[in-house]
Amino acid sequence: MAASDNVAALRSVGVTLTTKDEHPAITQPCAAFDGSVCTVYADRPTLCGLFTCALYRRHEAGEIETADAKALIAKTTELRDRVRSSIEGHLGAMGHEVHGASFGELYELLDEELDAATDPVAAREENSLMLMYAAALASRLRRDFRNPT
Ligand code: SF4
Repeated sequence: MAASDNVAALRSVGVTLTTKDEHPAITQPCAAFDGSVCTVYADRPTLCGLFTCALYRRHEAGEIETADAKALIAKTTELRDRVRSSIEGHLGAMGHEVHGASFGELYELLDEELDAATDPVAAREENSLMLMYAAALASRLRRDFRNPT
């Protein structure tokens, strides 16, 4: 966090501050994100204000029209919700409390569950549609939104 960041405002809405690779970070999913917008936009951390995803950069460079970028975001959001709902339903049925878990935590827990099955290969085949959607989401995020490192 930057010294000028309003940490109290962030904590008041449940935003959890942490460090990742020795850099300040926000525990994801961020408590200030309501599914489509930042609810503390005026007080968002400096880090958030500086971040631009690959799609935004392409839009700024004139490589993608606003309508096409919005359509891509809408399709990806729909896929994200489908994947989250599917994985949460699967894990919830197995007795896991997963509300508020990040995608990384959900994927890790799902992987552990499938590996722990009597027949892990059969378990993955039984859940192949869910796994296919999860792979499609990961691929789309990597291709259209992540910045090259
Ligand atoms: S911009 Fe995103 S990550 Fe940053 S505080 Fe808002 S919702 Fe959270």
